[in-house]
Amino acid sequence: MGIIANRLSVIKPSATVALNAKGMEMKAAGEDVIILAAGEPDFDTPDSAKEAGIKAIQSGDTKYTAPDGRPELKAAICRKLLRENNVKYEPKQISVGNGGKHVIYNALMATLNPGDEVIIPAPYWTSYPDMVRLAEGTPVIVACQQSNRFKLSPAQLEAAITPKTKWLIFNTPSNPTGAAYTWDETKALTDVLLKHPHVYVMTDDMYEHITYDGFKPCTAPEVEPKLYERSLITNGVSKAYAMTGWRIGYAAGPVEIISAMRTIQSQSTTNPSSISQTASVAALDGPQDFIPERALAFQRRRDLIVSMLNQAPGIDCLTPEGAFYVYPSCAGLIGKKTPDGKVIETDDDFANYMLESEKVVVVPGSAFGLSPHFRISYATSDDVLEEAGVRIQRAAASLR
Ligand code: GLU
Repeated sequence: MGIIANRLSVIKPSATVALNAKGMEMKAAGEDVIILAAGEPDFDTPDSAKEAGIKAIQSGDTKYTAPDGRPELKAAICRKLLRENNVKYEPKQISVGNGGKHVIYNALMATLNPGDEVIIPAPYWTSYPDMVRLAEGTPVIVACQQSNRFKLSPAQLEAAITPKTKWLIFNTPSNPTGAAYTWDETKALTDVLLKHPHVYVMTDDMYEHITYDGFKPCTAPEVEPKLYERSLITNGVSKAYAMTGWRIGYAAGPVEIISAMRTIQSQSTTNPSSISQTASVAALDGPQDFIPERALAFQRRRDLIVSMLNQAPGIDCLTPEGAFYVYPSCAGLIGKKTPDGKVIETDDDFANYMLESEKVVVVPGSAFGLSPHFRISYATSDDVLEEAGVRIQRAAASLR
């Protein structure tokens, strides 16, 4: 009998986190590496949040808070949800955790029994299936192909639902594809859920503010108010406010689920950082004008990287509606040989080859459940992105 628990045998380390760490290690060792692995805005936290954080430290606002968030932050989150998403919540329906990832984890731990099924459209954010497994649930992966812009169709959703289905995880705009569902596309899916009263929907709205060409994001309970009692919205300040390191995420939903999440949190992390909570109130209530400006900068970078990728032989990349990711297909490179004779059999092979030959770190599609693809996070400067495009084109062109 070893020291490590059996539950570890069903999960693996997060590929996005691991590849980012590897890139940073190479950089620290002085290598000329370009890291397109971690999904994190390269912009800075707004001054309003920084100043509130500094003031919190100086004024001694550095003690425990209520386990799932202080009242001021819950109230600011309720204001945000009404202002931006047209959904009404009360503070007792809000849970604040250490990042969006943490609230999703708490929600799954709070609701899954062994064998409960969670429908996860693929490509998915790499952590969903493993978090479901950790909570002893069963991920039900539904492959959503590039030919349907990586989106789940109502027929696919209908076919995936069984009496054991507990949740649909619904992430729009999507990490890793950037695909975002229109109001009508969302409505078509919520219509299916209305027919199955035992199924809940967990939205992941983390990228809602990063959309392009006038695309309007929406969230399931906004589109279908009849699903309000079966919806858990998850979101956070990480992406909209470039506050990834502050670790504040939140969930909004039925009191029963929120209370169970509070119990878990009170027995695990106690509360999210008091300083980060105060900074998040300032971010949510403060100036918002920089958000669309940043989205425009991301849109310019999206156009740059999509165009450069589509000029690389064997790579085919859609132009997504949002987030700061693209998910190109590398099907045209599978079966080709590197200059030293190694055959590229999978997207892992191609990602490794780019790392070794050009020192470009991307995340292979195997981490997101749909191959052969790779994910690029283009939340980096135009210059770095242009150089990355040149290196990727060179890597693809060197295969025979
Ligand atoms: N959400 C980001 C990503 O997908 C951060 C890393 C992580 O937690 O996966 O890259």
